[in-house]
Amino acid sequence: MITVIGSLNMDLIVQMDAFPKQGETILGQAFQTVPGGKGANQAVAAARLGHEVAMIGCVGKDSFGEALRSVLQQEHIQTGAIVSSPSALTGIANILIYNNDNRIVVVPGANYELSPSHLEASKHLIQKSQMVIIQLEIPKETTAYAIRMCKEAGVPILLNPAPAANFDVQWMEDITYLTPNETECAEIFNEPIDHLLEKYPNKLIITLGSDGARYSDGTYPIHVPGYMTTAVDTTGAGDTFNGALAYALVEGQSLDEAVYFANIAASLSVEKFSAQGGMPTLDAVFARMA
Ligand code: ATP
Repeated sequence: MITVIGSLNMDLIVQMDAFPKQGETILGQAFQTVPGGKGANQAVAAARLGHEVAMIGCVGKDSFGEALRSVLQQEHIQTGAIVSSPSALTGIANILIYNNDNRIVVVPGANYELSPSHLEASKHLIQKSQMVIIQLEIPKETTAYAIRMCKEAGVPILLNPAPAANFDVQWMEDITYLTPNETECAEIFNEPIDHLLEKYPNKLIITLGSDGARYSDGTYPIHVPGYMTTAVDTTGAGDTFNGALAYALVEGQSLDEAVYFANIAASLSVEKFSAQGGMPTLDAVFARMA
């Protein structure tokens, strides 16, 4: 089983003809609510490939919280460890889109109420997991606690350091895999990529958008080129990559095979609208690999 510890958000997306100026009110073209949050997205990516997945997170006692739980249940994800905050509202991302440009405001809300005591209450899930996936849209002390719990239980950790500002380099010792994109990697380490790959072989996997991903197997630096495709919406490409990487690793693939697999899965995800909407099934990934 894979356990994801992380965020659940409702994305509130408005498409418009122009961004409003300060103090101005304008009419938008279209409005959509789309389930998101890096935690929930990565849980869906792994579950859609066919693995048993449980999610630990926090939502509000409101309709968005209910909707997000139910979306995960439809993907056969265990939601028993998603707690409800008595005071905070479900996290949201307010996304304004105009002409391939966007302006986003995230309100973490209940995601920032996920505490070490919630993790303690779900210790049984963590202990029986083959891998735990963590991102950084929850309080830093909760992430630190999660890392300690996994270490004690001997459970491998895949950490996707987004947003990078919430990462602590001291965690490098205890995590099994770190998967920043190029920007996050620069923000965290501020060192040349080649040097970092050498320093963290079989641990640091840097995603490069349409250019694929890089890591080192301890002997050579390896570049897995991106799969050439026409991207419709790259939202959630990184989340698909992470969910698929965890899936492949717990299924027993080597890191080489798993990065290749995740790269193909993520390339499929960019071909459809929305983060979760494009996440592929196992058959779709195999079909592209064939
Ligand atoms: P996001 O924040 O958009 O979810 P990210 O910034 O975390 O993504 P990226 O490095 O942009 O992560 O992309 C993750 C992976 O998705 C890449 O390593 C690659 O496998 C795949 N990918 C992203 N964009 C494309 C693209 N245009 N074509 C093919 N594959 C892509």
